[in-house]
Amino acid sequence: MATARTDAASPPVRTPVLIVGGGPVGLALAGELGWRGVACTLVERGDGGITQPKMDFVGARTMEFCRRWGIVPWVMPPATTAPTRRTVPG
Ligand SMILES: Cc1cc2nc3c(=O)[nH]c(=O)nc-3n(C[C@H](O)[C@H](O)[C@H](O)COP(=O)(O)OP(=O)(O)OC[C@H]3O[C@@H](n4cnc5c(N)ncnc54)[C@H](O)[C@@H]3O)c2cc1C
Repeated sequence: MATARTDAASPPVRTPVLIVGGGPVGLALAGELGWRGVACTLVERGDGGITQPKMDFVGARTMEFCRRWGIVPWVMPPATTAPTRRTVPG
């Protein structure tokens, strides 16, 4: 059991699992724990805004997880709209 505080004014929150960082690893861990029925609390220091995307391609193994979590429709559209084959004339 861990104790987290969202800010100095808020009361502490007791949680079985505390995940620090809402990047892909933290979010994946939170999703996986939730999927397995394990409560957790995720804290992220940022506000969710990004200046540069850090993911253009989704690896096959990552897609296996996305498929199991049922989030493929959220992940696939950008990939399916991109051309998969370029035809060279001549
Ligand atoms: C330009 C670029 C392009 C990339 N393209 C791809 C790609 O196409 N495909 C791919 O698979 N990978 C890509 N990567 C790699 C991928 O982005 C990283 O592997 C991935 O972001 C790592 O995830 P992470 O959760 O470990 O760390 P991060 O993404 O760095 O997330 C860590 C999070 O923790 C938060 N944090 C840190 N310290 C604290 C703290 N003390 N308290 C609270 N929160 C905290 C940070 O704010 C951040 O949100 C790319 C990376 C870059 C830089």
